Amino acid sequence: MPNALVTGANRGLGLALVRALLTRGDRVIAACRHPGKANDLNRLTGEHPGRLHVLPLDLTDPKSHHELARELPLVLGNDAGEGRIDLLINNAGVLHSGERFGKVTAANLEDSFRTNAMGPFLLTQALAPLLADDAKVANITSELGSIAGVTRFGTPSYNISKAALNMASVLLKHALADRRITVLALHPGWVRTEMGGNEATLPPAQSAESLLRVIDGASLADSGKYLDWNGEPLPW
Ligand code: NAP
Repeated sequence: MPNALVTGANRGLGLALVRALLTRGDRVIAACRHPGKANDLNRLTGEHPGRLHVLPLDLTDPKSHHELARELPLVLGNDAGEGRIDLLINNAGVLHSGERFGKVTAANLEDSFRTNAMGPFLLTQALAPLLADDAKVANITSELGSIAGVTRFGTPSYNISKAALNMASVLLKHALADRRITVLALHPGWVRTEMGGNEATLPPAQSAESLLRVIDGASLADSGKYLDWNGEPLPW
């Protein structure tokens, strides 16, 4: 049974990815900040005995990455803890809205960078020994991380952090290439979540299913690509 790990799994796109992975038969490790409060995940755990494990993770705290890495062998694969992660989806992210030029704060920039760029990069590094050879790492970025695609001063902390995540994705491709691990930077579309808002065009389940299709269809030759939920390339 393939093992998949999803960050930011308690709501939004992360929760939809967990549901889609469970439906197709994977064992899922759902990482979130507050497992005790993750009611939807805890309900799903009951519906999928032994196939869904909810573990704590705060992406902004490297200690938390290492604690997750220590706990994982206990839930992965078999009693000897010899299982590996076949798919790591770095989904968790934050968007500080309402930023205006002249009023952008160091706190917003720092939190965005720590959550959206530093977190996925350092978590992938910490979990690398637990990734299967020829595993896949999907970094959920955004079209707003495209330097070529910027048209306005909208959400600078978010744009900057997602552009950094795009760079991190290409660097991780190189770091993991000798283990035949494929790394993708994926834009999920405009998704109806707390972040995307009610006007967004895609239901989370549809985005999740499309993203999994793109991930499944990707091979090592695609590693380092920046793609949307339909598998279409985006300009850097
Ligand atoms: P969301 O509804 O706001 O959910 C964000 C998730 O990230 C929540 O589970 C949240 O946990 C988690 N998270 C935030 N900071 C964290 C931290 N420090 N440690 C661990 N988890 C943390 O957003 P979403 O729409 O599902 O977004 C998922 C991903 O898609 C993000 O990377 C986002 O940038 C990207 N994206 C979304 C859209 C869109 O239209 N929605 C478009 C482009 C890209 P808590 O519940 O604890 O806060």
